[in-house]
Amino acid sequence: MEKCIICKKAQNAGIHLYTSFICAGCEQEIIHTETDDPRYKYFVEQMRVIKETKIVT
Ligand SMILES: [Zn+2]
Repeated sequence: MEKCIICKKAQNAGIHLYTSFICAGCEQEIIHTETDDPRYKYFVEQMRVIKETKIVT
């Protein structure tokens, strides 16, 4: 089980982005969220954290 960076819950199914983990549920949610949805901004923010983590590492 790995901790999803979006919902912060431990999930066993999902994808890896660099060193971070996004669960299958959140992955689908990101795909189906419109860019004008307030949640989209949150997802992008979490993605930005991943990118920064990669640079540091
Ligand atoms: Zn999740």
